[in-house]
Amino acid sequence: MSGAKYLNKLIQEIPPSGIRKYFDMASQMEGVVSLGVGEPDFQTPWHIREEAIYAIKSGKTFYTSNVGLPELRKEICKYYQRRFGVSYDWQNQCMITVGGSEAIDIVMRTLLDPGDEVILLQPGYVAYEPLVRLAGGTPVIIELKEENHFKLTKEALENAISDKTKILFLNFPGNPTGGVMNKEDYEELIPLIKAHDLVVLTDEIYAELSYGDKFCTISSFEEIKEQVIIINGFSKAYSMTGWRIGYLLADADIIKSMNKVHQYCIMCPSTISQYAAVEAAAKGDNDCDVHRESFEGRRNFIVNGLNRIGLKCHLPEGAFYVFPNITSTGLTSDEFCEKLLQQEKVAVVPGSAFGKCGEGYVRISYAYSIDEIKEALERMERFLNSLK
Ligand code: PMP
Repeated sequence: MSGAKYLNKLIQEIPPSGIRKYFDMASQMEGVVSLGVGEPDFQTPWHIREEAIYAIKSGKTFYTSNVGLPELRKEICKYYQRRFGVSYDWQNQCMITVGGSEAIDIVMRTLLDPGDEVILLQPGYVAYEPLVRLAGGTPVIIELKEENHFKLTKEALENAISDKTKILFLNFPGNPTGGVMNKEDYEELIPLIKAHDLVVLTDEIYAELSYGDKFCTISSFEEIKEQVIIINGFSKAYSMTGWRIGYLLADADIIKSMNKVHQYCIMCPSTISQYAAVEAAAKGDNDCDVHRESFEGRRNFIVNGLNRIGLKCHLPEGAFYVFPNITSTGLTSDEFCEKLLQQEKVAVVPGSAFGKCGEGYVRISYAYSIDEIKEALERMERFLNSLK
């Protein structure tokens, strides 16, 4: 009767994403204000869309090389040098993936032996833990604390390292907390990373959305650069979620081996999307700046609004999420989200979807118009008053 008996053990043990539940519920209701989804609300800039149209018109509809279009790899390496001051060789240290999502998967499948430990920071992005498990790795969780602005401390890292640790997985600016690490914060960690020869996997998908200090990539520390693998992509920086283009920057031997996994399961990402991405990487700096400015204004608006209505909310330094503390309501984060949706038709995500230590928080995306955010805040205020 059911195909469940055919499924492998690993897949049976992985729970469905805690984000989806509320969106499935919300999609059945009318008049919902959803502040749940993690994607920018801008259209992809026209000059980027035009390059895709041109690619189709001129018949650029064949496979590219497995590692991706040479022009795109060149432009990405120039972009990283120009924006973040680190240099990678486009010929052998860069490959194009189907979003940052594929990149996470192929890193795990290329590097992990069964039982290898991967240090994950939580609250953290929902895909990390399942992808580590599916590749046979063992996640080791570090709980990030609000009082440390959701940064990774040297003490926490020291306590998590064992002789089985292979990868330290970082994500700053972070989803869902908006936490950011600056140069001084990283400096504290470098001796440990070097001493234990850890691979540092850094998901920099929100690099262009840093509001305070200029974004610092951990790959800028020369003494560990060979140990660093960068994941990035076009989804968030250029509002290109549907184009599915991401990339990896790393040591040449690692790239060569990741390409083995990639070539057999993907072949190459969409050629048309890759041509659009060439334009974004080469000429999209201004789009990133315009988007960042707009998000920063919305961040300030929503943080002020949440604190005003009585939900304690720290000021996140990056990404487009706020992560208010809801413990004052006496509800669990699941109860909070469910009641808020039922009573006031506002959809947000429980912090517990991002790891156990996310309990007591909710994630609210502010990649929505000021009018939608205003409306959601009014409804949330009514909801909070109803709990008193
Ligand atoms: N990493 C993080 C932290 C994310 O939030 C997301 C998307 N929500 C991704 C990776 C994957 O993005 P994409 O596959 O669109 O590049």
